Amino acid sequence: MFSKKKLIASLATSVALTGIGFVATSQVDSLIGTSEVKASYAWVNSYIEANNITPVGIQYRQGTFNRWIPYENGVGRPEGIVVHETATPGATAENEVAYFNNNWKKLYTYVHAFVDANSIINIHSSDYGVWGAGPTANAKYVQVELCEVGTTDQFARSISNDAYYIASKLLQYGLPMEPGKTVVSHKQTGTMWHETNHTDPDGYFSKWGYDMNQFNELIGKYYNNLKATGSVNGAATKPSTDAGSDNNNKVEASNPYKGIVDVTDPEGDYVQLLSFRADGSAFVPTRGLADKTPWATDQQKQYKGHTYYRVSTNEWVSDYYAKFTASK
Ligand SMILES: [Zn+2]
Repeated sequence: MFSKKKLIASLATSVALTGIGFVATSQVDSLIGTSEVKASYAWVNSYIEANNITPVGIQYRQGTFNRWIPYENGVGRPEGIVVHETATPGATAENEVAYFNNNWKKLYTYVHAFVDANSIINIHSSDYGVWGAGPTANAKYVQVELCEVGTTDQFARSISNDAYYIASKLLQYGLPMEPGKTVVSHKQTGTMWHETNHTDPDGYFSKWGYDMNQFNELIGKYYNNLKATGSVNGAATKPSTDAGSDNNNKVEASNPYKGIVDVTDPEGDYVQLLSFRADGSAFVPTRGLADKTPWATDQQKQYKGHTYYRVSTNEWVSDYYAKFTASK
């Protein structure tokens, strides 16, 4: 085993060699460069998929904003969506809706929708523009605010809801999914038109190990699935609300090994995995798990006095690094 401290992999290499959420652990010879690069991982998207998280429905309410501003291309003709983040820890979508309904005249700001882990609340018709990101962007885009939450599970749920709102609006207006064009962060609008200096949602995303590229991947998945099947998961996946309604799901629900493992390596920056051969012997695979990430698991096995939790077809993490929480 090489030292973990010598983990050297370029971002491009680690993404190419590993699946989503995994970290390349193979040592790369330093012919090009020796700087250590924090590996990219998309634990949020993996977590949403592994836990069958599905978005809630969009609530449509009429807020107090009484300006009916056509977009530059006309009423009902937005060109895309701006992704915002509220920068107000703990404030729910309901809190934000009440606040902006009461204060938009003073604040000179209003958006179409607020999203948190439990709700998507649309408060102004997206056929008309709002005041969220400077005049040029306001004349082009639907605008949605993501609320700040406190746990990884809430973050994943809020991201799923936000991606669903965005994908739904793109489809409603017959727009393609084009990152940087039809889906832009508030930060990107500032870079393009220099009318605001906000950098959301990037800073908040990065606190959760997330970024716009990963978010665009999820939006793209939802967009394609919604377009093809009307469901964010595509036709093949049953909605999570079906749990317990048939035999397969009953078996899954009664599996005591099904749950989440939170993995941490106190010494390193990724968590080692183990794979097993048919004869029961073990070997270290060429990828590990990003430090401090949650993983869905469905099987356990004992090996050399430790419990191992399965996180992929043949990759297991030791109880030395993992804390298991059974599904309810
Ligand atoms: Zn913003």
